[in-house]
Amino acid sequence: MARRGGRRRGTGFLLGAIADDLTGATDLCNTLVAGGMRTVQVIGVPGGTTPVPDADAVVVALKSRTVAPAKAVRESRAALAWLRAGGARQIVFKYCSTFDSTPRGNIGPVADALLDDLGAGLTIACPAFPTNGRTVYKGHLFVGDVLLEHSGMRNHPLTPMRDSNLVAVLGAQTPRPVGLVGHATVRRGADAIRAALDGLRQADTRHAVVDAITDADLVAIGTACADLPLVTGGSGVATGLPANFRARRLLTGAGEAATLPAASGHAAVIAGSCSPATLGQIEAMAASCPVFFVDAEALAARKRVAAEALAWAGPRLADGPVLIYASAPPARVRRIQRRLGVDKAGAMIERCLARIALGLVEAGVGRLVVAGGETAGAVVGALGVNALRIGAEIDPGVPWTMSVGEPRLHLALKSGNFGGQDFFTRAFAVLP
Ligand code: ADP
Repeated sequence: MARRGGRRRGTGFLLGAIADDLTGATDLCNTLVAGGMRTVQVIGVPGGTTPVPDADAVVVALKSRTVAPAKAVRESRAALAWLRAGGARQIVFKYCSTFDSTPRGNIGPVADALLDDLGAGLTIACPAFPTNGRTVYKGHLFVGDVLLEHSGMRNHPLTPMRDSNLVAVLGAQTPRPVGLVGHATVRRGADAIRAALDGLRQADTRHAVVDAITDADLVAIGTACADLPLVTGGSGVATGLPANFRARRLLTGAGEAATLPAASGHAAVIAGSCSPATLGQIEAMAASCPVFFVDAEALAARKRVAAEALAWAGPRLADGPVLIYASAPPARVRRIQRRLGVDKAGAMIERCLARIALGLVEAGVGRLVVAGGETAGAVVGALGVNALRIGAEIDPGVPWTMSVGEPRLHLALKSGNFGGQDFFTRAFAVLP
């Protein structure tokens, strides 16, 4: 029996992915939906009795970017086992397009473990996402017009990125050899890339950083990777993958992959990202909507900030979207981090924002935008949301999604750096 997405029932899904954070998972889903794959995102590794989602692609969202490497490896391997049991023929390990990681990991250790479990010789590492200004050239990652190390990522609260050379950054995270497929090869197309990967594999290279500066590069890379058991990178790395399944007649039809039910309920934004993009979006929204600042110093002094925020929001919800944010510029972030430590400060704020999200949904919010990967992870955890169906794109890399099961609500989970200046208000305007 033919379905909307065009594939036949009962064969499991085609593509399985493991994402190291929640908004990154959504971003990848967005790419796969654009490629015509009906996509479901599950949050955390599902239990053994969880039914296999009816989808062409399934993305398991972990919260493994900044946990201890051993934990990230354990969870990623469990996700891999579940995805393979569900029929996945190829695995994508998705991380941030700014290669968010620290010298101890977790990109290298997780990629190594997945390679081993899949019995695969080599994988690629390609965080490029040209639409959002992330390009890789001669192994160096650019964010817009500047090298990664000169971008806002330099001051990220959890994973400051101060080296743009991905061969070196990844090389510090794995004992295995890391090589490069440069743009001179990539621009010659899929056959040239495949040949370069074969050459690297024969030379015992295990990770190949691959240059990409355009979407056409990503499509060629995708074609060249059709037979790789494991592909790693940003969401852009999946751009060319759906076509491989289509070429093999495993995926047919365009797939009305992005249709969601109509939205209802009040609208709110919660921001915990301190990225320059999010700080700009907060400023833009503050010009036309009520805003509440969650002060980290007050939280540290054990003030009842979540209750205050909810009491503030209550009478305002009926009049339109409200914004509640903890985001602050680097100097202010450093101040609280010096006092509490990086992890403790981050976790304290995430907990508070998650509590606020729960209160907002109890107060009738049915459309919620969350800015920040870690923040979004904490929020969906508190809400008890464990799967999302992916809808239409708001801005590159950020779709509306809808929770599967209770509570039923529309969620837009935005990676900190993503989205245009007016993202917060426009998100609600584009929702039917
Ligand atoms: P992004 O997607 O930009 O990386 P995340 O939510 O993943 O955003 O990470 C931002 C981290 O910064 C979270 O742990 C959040 O709790 C923390 N944070 C938010 N506001 C502040 C602040 N004012 N001071 C210190 N840390 C903060």
